[in-house]
Amino acid sequence: MPRPTFFDPSDLPTQDLYSQGVHFDGPNRTVIAAGQVGILPNGSIPQDSRKEVQQALLNVDKVLQAGGATIRDLVKLTILVVDFDYENAKILAEPIVEFLQTTYGVTARPTMTLILVPKLAVPQARFEVEATAVLPGKANIWREPEQQKGIPEVSGSLQCDVVVVGAGFSGIQAAADLHEAGLKVLVLEAKSRIGGRPLGWINKTTQPKIYALTQKFGLEVYRQYEVADLLQLIEALEKAQSEIDGNNPSAASKHHDISVEDWLQTNNFSEWAKQTMRHFTAAIVGRESRDLGLHYVLDYIKSGNGYLSLASEGEDGAQSLKVKQGTSAIAHGLARTLPPGSVLLNSPVQSIVQHAKRRVIVETTAGLAVQCSKVVVAIPTQTYDKIHFTPPLPLAKRAIVTRTQPAVYIKIILTYARPWWRELGLVGSFFSVKGPINFSWDTSDKAAGKHYSLALFSHGDSAASLGQLSSLQRETAVLEHLVELVGEEHRGAVLDVAEINQKEWLKEEYIEGGPTSTMRTGDYAKYSDALREVFGHIHFAGGELAYDWKGYLEGALRSGSRCAAEVVEDVKKAPVPSRL
Ligand SMILES: Cc1cc2nc3c(=O)[nH]c(=O)nc-3n(C[C@H](O)[C@H](O)[C@H](O)COP(=O)(O)OP(=O)(O)OC[C@H]3O[C@@H](n4cnc5c(N)ncnc54)[C@H](O)[C@@H]3O)c2cc1C
Repeated sequence: MPRPTFFDPSDLPTQDLYSQGVHFDGPNRTVIAAGQVGILPNGSIPQDSRKEVQQALLNVDKVLQAGGATIRDLVKLTILVVDFDYENAKILAEPIVEFLQTTYGVTARPTMTLILVPKLAVPQARFEVEATAVLPGKANIWREPEQQKGIPEVSGSLQCDVVVVGAGFSGIQAAADLHEAGLKVLVLEAKSRIGGRPLGWINKTTQPKIYALTQKFGLEVYRQYEVADLLQLIEALEKAQSEIDGNNPSAASKHHDISVEDWLQTNNFSEWAKQTMRHFTAAIVGRESRDLGLHYVLDYIKSGNGYLSLASEGEDGAQSLKVKQGTSAIAHGLARTLPPGSVLLNSPVQSIVQHAKRRVIVETTAGLAVQCSKVVVAIPTQTYDKIHFTPPLPLAKRAIVTRTQPAVYIKIILTYARPWWRELGLVGSFFSVKGPINFSWDTSDKAAGKHYSLALFSHGDSAASLGQLSSLQRETAVLEHLVELVGEEHRGAVLDVAEINQKEWLKEEYIEGGPTSTMRTGDYAKYSDALREVFGHIHFAGGELAYDWKGYLEGALRSGSRCAAEVVEDVKKAPVPSRL
């Protein structure tokens, strides 16, 4: 029986009592949307009945999309109506037919049940609709985006030397290295695309691995808009780092671990320095200083070459360069180095069973079974519990899942026709400790011209509060905050926004947070070693498992290569058994 996955789309309000949607993955994916009324993003219900029906259907569409389905996959609608007017039934029927046929080109007639009710749970609502959609759950072979049409489906059982679970940067790099070492690799990716969380900035001087790939794949990089003033170096932080050795985390147990907040309180920092540090830690790992162990944070900062490196857009800084084609182009470049058919999309792995004689069976939710000798698990640690391991993961590994906390981050991109902030002499790097906007960057592609964008980030508590709001309330909150930051006299320019896009990482299926997963006080020395520990024939990769550049794309690539080298070394010692 497939396990249900309950979810809430980021642009609908989260309810305490119920989830907005649920999906079951088996040979087919079934997505069920909870009853939706015609509530607008501002919380009101349209007066006009036709508009109310349309809005309810739009809300159903949002839920289906968040569950990986569309209106075209509908098989059943259950409609609840208050004050049904038999004489005027077309007021109800027309918008439904128009929505299904004209907007979505649905030719089939989904099954429907109409129930007349005296009242609905939302008192002003007169129409509620619940929906079920079913779509094929078959795995697809990855191809270049432009060749996506008619992608062959894969089912049944397959064999290879190594299965890589997850086609993020760490997984795809591990696969490329394993292939180069002569092993037959199959990558199973849950989503319908590769690249995982392909976000952000890179650097030429201190992130040589990722920079070399941009050059290898002919990608263009450009400088972040301008170098902003760097924050003051907190010397004490750099000094404290010397107690931490990322290659030997358990040695940190010699030193007493405390939370970052307690460390700030016990040192004689100025209020400004404390605020800066709180903001900085939340910005890099998406959690507040009270929730973070000092040893964990010191190691994280050290792994990225120190505070100045992580905070900077300068040449040696983590935010130095953007990739013009988008960082996912690097993942595509790596996938291209694999033989065709080596990466399967829509293939969430649900179980990994290790049998005797180095026979491992990896099974996806769609029932595809792959037999192999080695597995690389390259997925975020917070999602390990979505896979059923037999035998079960060791206790320390499980503690990583239960004790670590994923980063809380929301990204909002505002696109403008005019770079109004540049016209005001600003570089677009806003910074606020109170939020909802905690920091921002000018992410305009200068060469492309025409459109200019600001990427606004909200993290930690600010992001958690923002996540409680409806989509429209969120947009309003960030626009109002931007007005507050630049001055009321520029309200017109701020509100003249052409497009707004939002991403809430905690609600992203198979990712469940990012950029990393964080550790609390005392956990760094106890559990860090377990992160990379091999479990039978299962090896582990991922951005949070990197020795250097933890939580960054460079770290994910390095971790993928480290893991692949580990597998190759093992295979050299005991060659993989014949595939037949
Ligand atoms: C808001 C934000 C900002 C960031 N900014 C930057 C930045 O500026 N610079 C930078 O270098 N990095 C940045 N990062 C971090 C970077 O994106 C990650 O460190 C990196 O993507 C991690 O790669 P990964 O391979 O470990 O995991 P992921 O990218 O998460 O890839 C894991 C893959 O596994 C798949 N998966 C999960 N479960 C399963 C399953 N059961 N079966 C099959 N597949 C599965 C997922 O769908 C995903 O594709 C940022 C991240 C976020 C969220």
